[in-house]
Amino acid sequence: MTQTPILNKKCPICGKQSILEYHPFCSKKCADIDLGRWLKGDYVMHTNEVPTDEEWAQEAIESAKNE
Ligand SMILES: [Zn+2]
Repeated sequence: MTQTPILNKKCPICGKQSILEYHPFCSKKCADIDLGRWLKGDYVMHTNEVPTDEEWAQEAIESAKNE
């Protein structure tokens, strides 16, 4: 394993410390989650099927735990 530079910032998705490689996220997973959220929000608007920000965050936390 190579050492990963750690930033003194928190991942906006799961709250873990973000790393330089995936700034401002802590991992590719969180970056993908954010990208997916952004895209979904762009394509799907005003439906009850869209998870709230809180649900997204919860989902991210759960998936991060499983890693
Ligand atoms: Zn994260």
